[in-house]
Amino acid sequence: MRTIDLRSDTVTKPSAGMREAMARAEVGDDVLDGDPTMRALEERVAGLTGHEAALWMPTGSMSNLVALMIHLVRGDSFIASAHTHVLDSELGTAASLAQGMPVTLPWSDLAGLPDAEDVSRAASAVGPYYSLRPALLCLENTHNAAGGSVVPVERQREVVLAARSAGLAVHLDGARVWHAAAALGCSVSELTSQADTVSVCLSKGLGVPVGSVLAGTAETMVRARRLRKMLGGGVRQGGVLAAAGLHALDHHLAEIDNDRLLALRLAAGLTDAGFSIVPPTSNIVLVRSKDALETTRLLRESGVLASTMAGNVRFVTHRDVREEDVDEVLGRLAEHRVREGELVN
Ligand SMILES: *Cc1c(COP(=O)(O)O)cnc(C)c1O
Repeated sequence: MRTIDLRSDTVTKPSAGMREAMARAEVGDDVLDGDPTMRALEERVAGLTGHEAALWMPTGSMSNLVALMIHLVRGDSFIASAHTHVLDSELGTAASLAQGMPVTLPWSDLAGLPDAEDVSRAASAVGPYYSLRPALLCLENTHNAAGGSVVPVERQREVVLAARSAGLAVHLDGARVWHAAAALGCSVSELTSQADTVSVCLSKGLGVPVGSVLAGTAETMVRARRLRKMLGGGVRQGGVLAAAGLHALDHHLAEIDNDRLLALRLAAGLTDAGFSIVPPTSNIVLVRSKDALETTRLLRESGVLASTMAGNVRFVTHRDVREEDVDEVLGRLAEHRVREGELVN
C-alpha cells in the first residue's frame, strides 16, 4: 500500500530541478567573506518581503529566536496570540534565550489573530518601575495551530497599528506567509512589510530541504548575523542550500495556491464523510477529535499519515501530493466507520 504523507508541508522532497540547481550553485565561505548564492537569495527575499535586507537561517525556529533576541531585553514582555509557534513549539526559547516573558492573548473572531483592543490594552499597560515592559508583538500568518488561518492585510494592519501606537516593535512569523498572500491574492510584501522583522520558511510548502530567511533593516540584519553565529547557525558553503531557495522562488512559489485547492478538496470530502473540521483558508485541515492520537494511529494503518495539533488531527497538503492522492485518502477513510465524527475500526 502506498503511503500518503500529510503530516506537514515539510515532508516535500527536493525536485530534480532543485537538486540540479543545488549542484550547480556558485559558493563561497559565508562565515569568512560571504557566499554569492546566499547573498542572491537574501536580496531576493528582502525584495519580496519589502525589507531593506535579509539573512538566511538554517531553521524557522532560529529565525524567530534571533528576531526575539533583537527585540527583547531582560525585563521585557512580548505579546503573542494563543498557540503561536513561538509560544508552543520552540521549547520556550522566547523566554529562556531571548529573555521575554510571554503575554498570551486569546483569538478574536478571526482564528489565530488577537483582538486589536486587547493588543492596545496589553501594549500600553504601564505599572511601577518593577513591572514588565511590553516591547514586542509577535504575529503569525498563516496561523498554524488555528488551522493555517489566513489573516487579511487590513485585519493584520489594525493589530500592528495597535502595537505600534503603544511603541512596540512587531515581528511576523511568516513561515507560511506565501500561502497567506496567495489565498488573499495580494503581494507577499503587503503582509510582510507591515512588521519590523519577518521570518519566512523555504522548507514549508516550497519544497526546499533546509532554510528560512529573516528580513528587516540592514542594521537589524548586522545584529542578526552576530546572533545567528552565537547560536551556531553560521554556515560555510551555504550557497548549495540557498540555490534550492532561489529555485523554489523561481519555480514553485507561483504554484503554491494549489496546496489550498487540495485542502479544500480534502475538507469537502471529510465533511461529506461526517467529520467535524475547521474549514481551511490555506493548506491545513484540522479535524476535531476526542482522541487525535488514536485517530492518527488508525489512519497510519490505512497508509495515511497525519499529525496532531492542539488536540485536533492535522492534515497538511503540499506540492508532493495531487488530487488523486487526496481522493485516495478519502477512499481509505471510507473503509472505516465514522461514529459521532470520530474514526472507529
Ligand atoms: C514550521 C514553523 C516554524 C519553524 O519551524 P522550523 O522547523 O524550526 O523551521 C515557525 N513558525 C511556524 C508557524 C511554523 O509552522
